[in-house]
Amino acid sequence: MKPTLVLVGRPNVGKSTLFNRLTKTRDALVADLPGLTRDRHYGHGLVGSKPYLVVDTGGFEPVAKDGILHEMAKQTLQAVDEADCIIFLVDARQGLTPQDKTIAEGLRKSGRPVFLAVNKAEGMRREVVAAEFHELALGVPLVISSAHGEGVRELVELALADF
Ligand code: GDP
Ligand code: MG
Repeated sequence: MKPTLVLVGRPNVGKSTLFNRLTKTRDALVADLPGLTRDRHYGHGLVGSKPYLVVDTGGFEPVAKDGILHEMAKQTLQAVDEADCIIFLVDARQGLTPQDKTIAEGLRKSGRPVFLAVNKAEGMRREVVAAEFHELALGVPLVISSAHGEGVRELVELALADF
């Protein structure tokens, strides 16, 4: 069974950019259809010779004003439930937000292994970028740039090391 890696984070942190980077090679092999991956949420990744499934989630608005979970959040929770491991993305440029803290809490409760990735960090100093995210208590923040591919391979290797 292929391990399933689920990408979680508030809107605009770069989940789909990371998804496209992780699934690009395989998709290109299967069909050269530009634009297709944009709306797709399941894809195949390969790290070394190890295949895995990647799931992009649409977003994570934990609870709506009326207390009912958004459809989107439901789907995200379902994806988390099916995850072998989770990559939780946050945004180096926006810094730590209250929504990040809420998501972190939810992920801790899920009991799944979580890898915290601080995205959009190209051209920034790793230690400086990572510093404020330690308080999420999800281990050492891994500093990456999905758009530039920096740190992405190391992140996935670490996340899938036990599979
Ligand atoms: P999602 O809502 O979490 O799926 O985020 P998207 O993948 O749609 O990205 C949101 C915005 O952030 C887009 O404008 C991306 O180009 C940008 N973005 C994603 N990754 C990076 C990155 O590594 N560096 C920078 N500077 N921008 C990024
Ligand atoms: Mg997206």
